[in-house]
Amino acid sequence: MNKAESERVGNLFEQHGYQATASLDEADIIVLNSCVVRQSAENRATSRLQSLKPLKKANPGLILALTGCLVNSDNALLKKNFPHVDYFFKPGDHPQWLEQASWAQTLPLQVPASEYVPIIQGCDNFCSYCIVPYRRGREISRPLAEIRDEVRELVLRGAKEITLLGQNVDSYGHDLPGRPDLADLLSELNDIPGLSRLRFLTNHPKDMTTRLIAAVATLDKVCEQINLPVQSGDNDILELMKRGYTAEHYRRLITQTRRQLPEGAISTDVIVGFPSESEEQFGQTFNLLCELRFDTVHVAAYSPRPGTVAARELDDNVPTAEKSRRLNAIEHLQEKIAAEINARLLGGTVEILVEGRKKGKWQGRTRSGKIVFFTDNGNHLGQLVDVRIEKTGPWSMQGKIALNK
Ligand code: SF4
Repeated sequence: MNKAESERVGNLFEQHGYQATASLDEADIIVLNSCVVRQSAENRATSRLQSLKPLKKANPGLILALTGCLVNSDNALLKKNFPHVDYFFKPGDHPQWLEQASWAQTLPLQVPASEYVPIIQGCDNFCSYCIVPYRRGREISRPLAEIRDEVRELVLRGAKEITLLGQNVDSYGHDLPGRPDLADLLSELNDIPGLSRLRFLTNHPKDMTTRLIAAVATLDKVCEQINLPVQSGDNDILELMKRGYTAEHYRRLITQTRRQLPEGAISTDVIVGFPSESEEQFGQTFNLLCELRFDTVHVAAYSPRPGTVAARELDDNVPTAEKSRRLNAIEHLQEKIAAEINARLLGGTVEILVEGRKKGKWQGRTRSGKIVFFTDNGNHLGQLVDVRIEKTGPWSMQGKIALNK
């Protein structure tokens, strides 16, 4: 979400004639996009804001703006603590001052081949460990027509792949007239000429429907990639987390998804060391990961976030060393599983969308979201290219160009 928001703000500035600078010293405007999902992220954002003070002092014409989750409707406290900051604007809001500034001008804009589009802001779920609903507020869906127009515009400017974003994309549309859902939105966007790929993040096991899985299976532009965070494989821990589903329900969802998307990639998120998580309960999570064999697992050790129910009511009683041991055990397991899954692609040909260059190699992603590198002298940036896979590993693959599209 934050990456998408930073890109959106960056694009907006470019549209008004600005360019990104390589260093802060050269900037006329600095926009800090803040994250508060963990206390450490919030601390980093506030100390970064403080560190900009000398720049503003040396150059009073410099404009400083703050966006992201630190910004609320009432910014009196922020203004008091950071008087050197000129503007505050909430994620997704349009910085009106940009239009009014004397230097504003509108330029045609070429966008990257892969773009993010937020479709729903906020979250109504209140998982016990999560600060997002308190900071981002309740769910607000963007009207379907507005999203369609934005995607059309991005495609006209060069985007080939769109990733739809939301804290919980499965609840998209429940607050809109006619109650369209994510499947409706995908089917509407699937018809946009020039668009090659559609993705979406993040799903919630409580809300993901078979209708959505069917839409992914039938709509040709929707990529076979699902992110479905499980968080824990133990029902008592899931209950403490207030996730609203059981491990059995989660298993059924994965079975249905695999039946309909046999070539699809599924990723998940896991928290280890949640308050009171016993060795046996951790074992349930470990076994679930062994059994379901995900393409990617994002694992985090629990850390209490002030302001959440878990921080207030649950004792953070799993020792740090034990949290690290559990985290490492999962990382080790996942490395092995991912290597085995990716090895199945060896010798095959995959379509990748080229996103950039790294260490002299072109880098892109398959429809299932896997990273592929290849070497070639041509300019393939933003192109869909077929690559024959010659080497695989747990995190990425290497290959040779097979055919330009
Ligand atoms: S679903 Fe839960 S973890 Fe995800 S943003 Fe909402 S409250 Fe946070």
